[in-house]
Amino acid sequence: MAKSNLRLCVLASGSKGNSIYIESAGARVLIDAGLSGKELLARLDSIAVDPDTLDAIIITHDHRDHTSGAGVMARRYRLPIYTGYGTIKASEQLWGKVEEIQEIQAGALFSINDLEFYPFSTPHDAAEPMAFIFRAGDKKGGIATDLGFVTRLVRESLKSCDLLVLESNHDEQMLMDGPYPWHLKQRVKSRMGHLSNVECAGLLDDINHDGLKGVVLAHLSEVNNDPQVAFQSVTKNMKTKLPPEVGLSLSWQNRAGKMLSAQV
Ligand SMILES: [Zn+2]
Ligand SMILES: [Zn+2]
Repeated sequence: MAKSNLRLCVLASGSKGNSIYIESAGARVLIDAGLSGKELLARLDSIAVDPDTLDAIIITHDHRDHTSGAGVMARRYRLPIYTGYGTIKASEQLWGKVEEIQEIQAGALFSINDLEFYPFSTPHDAAEPMAFIFRAGDKKGGIATDLGFVTRLVRESLKSCDLLVLESNHDEQMLMDGPYPWHLKQRVKSRMGHLSNVECAGLLDDINHDGLKGVVLAHLSEVNNDPQVAFQSVTKNMKTKLPPEVGLSLSWQNRAGKMLSAQV
């Protein structure tokens, strides 16, 4: 039997734009497309992926940092957009005319070629926010950013993944001492906002296991966090140890991160 594999690369991450490329033997998908079409093409080019080989775009929620380039990419490369009804309604004006939009529902599996997706709801101040796990053969990946806190559903869904992309949005002290106005600080901290580095460490402890192959810290705030701070804070606050060969990897706003593979 052919060995299954799953590869994943965070093309951009942060409040100015998010997109994650995932790939199996039979499918190539973008999860979120929150950069300009031009910038998305540059990021794909930087990891040597031809945009003509993409199969679909999946959107997690309607915030602009996840949606802004989806319409343009869908039109230019004839890609279907998969997302929830609330996200479609909130984004259709921004996207303009798109040939194919597939409505998906939290809790209902769907497939794109050999990639099977399971969307699940997240607590976040958007119309219909979702996170995803996905499988190709015996490999499993999970992506969860833009969530105010870790629900039991989020924690259970993300167990036993080979590859993970988890939100590590802010350092709580930097947020409180930083320049954001009070209402924005409250929004970020709230149960409908974003996960802190310490909360990310707690989540990672709960879902850590021997089969883990790679973890990316994502959606880092440029104002209330710093890659080194996030890395150290997550490492220091974890009570469990990641498998020895698993390095925590970082993601960036202005360039693509490392390509991770679920095959050893
Ligand atoms: Zn976001
Ligand atoms: Zn958001």
